[in-house]
Amino acid sequence: MRFAIFGDIHSNLEALQAVLADARDCGCTHHVCLGDIVGYNANPHECVDVIRNLGCPVVMGNHDEQAYLNDNKENFNPLADTAIRWTRAHLPEEDKAWLSKLRLVRQVRDFTIVHATLDTPHQWGYVFNQLDAAASFNYQFTNLCFFGHTHSPRAYVRDESVRSVPLDVLQIEPGKKYFINGGSVGQPRDGDWHASYCIFHADKNLVELRRVEYDINTAQDKVVEAGLPQRLADRLALGA
Ligand code: ZN
Repeated sequence: MRFAIFGDIHSNLEALQAVLADARDCGCTHHVCLGDIVGYNANPHECVDVIRNLGCPVVMGNHDEQAYLNDNKENFNPLADTAIRWTRAHLPEEDKAWLSKLRLVRQVRDFTIVHATLDTPHQWGYVFNQLDAAASFNYQFTNLCFFGHTHSPRAYVRDESVRSVPLDVLQIEPGKKYFINGGSVGQPRDGDWHASYCIFHADKNLVELRRVEYDINTAQDKVVEAGLPQRLADRLALGA
């Protein structure tokens, strides 16, 4: 069994399609979505439609939540705020209703998925360091958990201590806990523009990070044509 685990798609249809094609080429049999399907880029409905049709486990992200609310609950920065207002105006009610029913935390087989953190999933905190990861580990009841939200791939392990470990290819060892972020499909922020996700090879207990080339020019053109801020198009190429 091979899981394609991806999130932070952020309405970038070109990146999502490239990731799904790569997952298929890599023999993935299952899909798992870590939330933030919408926000920032130009194809919110199309991305919701693709994920909904996959029929896979999905958890809610903060942009998914903001998209179905009538006004902001969270303090978004001006760029995110402009994009979420555009998203609200362009997302069909049916899609909003679907997003509103997503859960914050789910267990898939023997692993857990969450968008932000396990300690306070609805406060949308960020896991940027060992301390943040340690707080989440206290509420992690499976060996393995996948999360998103930071748009930057990283992995933490807890045995005698909590520390950061390289993610390129990570062997999951029994008796330890792992909190793993596969990065962002549609708006990477680690300086690499390629779409990012990971594959969990369940039979080998192995997690593999994948970076995928996609048609970034089309995605950028759509952002500009939609009347979204130019900076949202520019940042895609910077991976920022
Ligand atoms: Zn996000």
